[in-house]
Amino acid sequence: MESRKVVIIGSGPAGHTAAIYASRANLNPLVLEGHEPGGQLTTTTDVENFPGFPDGVQGPELMLMMKKQAERFDAEYRTETVTEIDTTSRPFKIKLESGGEIIAETAIISTGASAKYLGLENEKELIGRGVSACATCDGFFYRDKIVHIVGGGDTAMEEATFLTKFAKEVYVIHRRDTLRASKTMQQRAFDNPKISFIWDTAIEEILFDQTGVTGLVVKNLKTGETTNRDTDGVFMAIGHTPNTKFLNGQVDLDDHGFIKTKNGDPDTNVPGLFACGDVQDSYYRQAISAAGSGCMAAMRAERFLSDS
Ligand code: NDP
Repeated sequence: MESRKVVIIGSGPAGHTAAIYASRANLNPLVLEGHEPGGQLTTTTDVENFPGFPDGVQGPELMLMMKKQAERFDAEYRTETVTEIDTTSRPFKIKLESGGEIIAETAIISTGASAKYLGLENEKELIGRGVSACATCDGFFYRDKIVHIVGGGDTAMEEATFLTKFAKEVYVIHRRDTLRASKTMQQRAFDNPKISFIWDTAIEEILFDQTGVTGLVVKNLKTGETTNRDTDGVFMAIGHTPNTKFLNGQVDLDDHGFIKTKNGDPDTNVPGLFACGDVQDSYYRQAISAAGSGCMAAMRAERFLSDS
């Protein structure tokens, strides 16, 4: 059976960076790319906040460059999805969807988290053309525009507040009449004159033309009344689902399903198993913070191997 010192599961900025560091440490890492090679960044267009690109860079291009950088050393990539990992003893046994199995002395989990969407018609096709799940990434494109944000949690409050730096009007659409967000974040949003709340309401339809999103059809869930609203953008802030299903409960997760790491290190509760990027980060969720944690995970794996 194939045996590896380091197997990296997932290929967003965290996985690629872990691969760069592990390959430069002569660990010949194997990267199992998963169903969506490159991760969430491949669904975005302009990335303007990744250092080193003064004119911005396209998300898919950035991922490709990171991959090439890792391959320039001896990282090996395979388009494979992991269905199961047995961490009850080391080396770990990793089962692949294709039927194969790999033995790994250490494993780095960088499977990311998927932003939740509403499931509306055309929603996914309009990502990058008025639909977004990341205000930090895309808010800049909405200078003096009207935007709507869906959700009532801390992310919705934080992103609504952030969007007021750019947009002229920000509307929070929430399905209930009370917020889930912490009192401080709620108050900050309530106090912001650019933010208005649309309570007890759900989006029924996203309206668009060839330029992108133009409006929303929303329904008041109490009265059943349906109205049209003009908007240039709609931001989804209804939570993220960390991609941890294949771990089958063997790794400690927090209340929201993100992998618990230790004191800012990428260590999980399983020795030799490290986690980096959005799968263990419900807070920053940025390409650059994911990349940084990927570097840390590879360095921890290297030290773990040399100490054991
Ligand atoms: P949450 O799960 O806390 O909130 C999700 C929100 O989306 C809820 O208000 C929920 O409504 C709503 N929602 C869920 N599904 C749907 C749907 N299908 N249609 C309409 N609305 C929907 O996620 P967050 O991303 O806000 O936060 C995740 C974690 O990260 C939390 O622990 C949060 O505290 C933390 N966080 C902390 C921050 C900070 O401290 N600065 C910033 C951002 C996040 P309902 O309330 O009705 O269930």
